[in-house]
Amino acid sequence: MEERLQEILGEVRRAGGRVVALTGAGISAESGIPTFRGAEGYWVVGSRNYMPQEMATHAMFQRRPDEVWRWYLYRFGVCHLAQPNAGHRALVALDRALGDRFHLVTQNIDGLHLRAGATPQRTSCIHGEAAWVRCADGCGAGRLPLPDLGPRDARTPFSAEDRRALTCPGCGGWLRPHVLWFDECYDEENYRMDTALRAAGRADLLLVVGTSGATNLPMQIGELAWRRGIALVDVNPEENPFSELCARAPRGFFARGAACARLPEIVAALTGAP
Ligand SMILES: [Zn+2]
Repeated sequence: MEERLQEILGEVRRAGGRVVALTGAGISAESGIPTFRGAEGYWVVGSRNYMPQEMATHAMFQRRPDEVWRWYLYRFGVCHLAQPNAGHRALVALDRALGDRFHLVTQNIDGLHLRAGATPQRTSCIHGEAAWVRCADGCGAGRLPLPDLGPRDARTPFSAEDRRALTCPGCGGWLRPHVLWFDECYDEENYRMDTALRAAGRADLLLVVGTSGATNLPMQIGELAWRRGIALVDVNPEENPFSELCARAPRGFFARGAACARLPEIVAALTGAP
């Protein structure tokens, strides 16, 4: 490991500092989950191709709930088949070692952190979770597990059985995926925005992994860390807005590389594990 990185992590460890990890699509990509932002996210409805930025919206759900659901059931199926990797497991080791001094903020809806063993109370899924659904009208029926509708691919049609399974038991309307859409705002109730910001406001180290900061709350967390002058480490194969923040931070470090390659040694340096 680079000497400067070792120094930064060693200081945090000796001070018994608090750590917030912020993870994005990059760590899931290492488990084989596509980002769904580029060409692989296209979805065909009738004769038109839709971009994820059009599909993942409340506006689209109001027009074509069946098609939005068909797209999500396919995507959720991909998530379900993926397995946590060495990056997820390293962060679980950090969670266990630091206890309440650790908080994980993830943009990933795939549930891989939790399946790897992350503590739910210390994990904020700021873009929601594939594992849950909720009433699209907010009737108060609460959060329900995603029904198991069998294996799907991109061509699986939306069936009457799907429709029944995705009916709100409270009001008879549609259930919706428990995910934040592009035309919606972060909140605490569903997406733990305040919890995530509070954790970042108390942290001594922000460890950013595999995110390019395309959405607003992750960037807000990065800028908050930078303004507070805390240690800032960015793990990413590519330069990105967080690596730029690291370059401008006195205790910043851009650890170029994949999460699976870099996180185990970073976590070992933070926990003092051999
Ligand atoms: Zn309802």
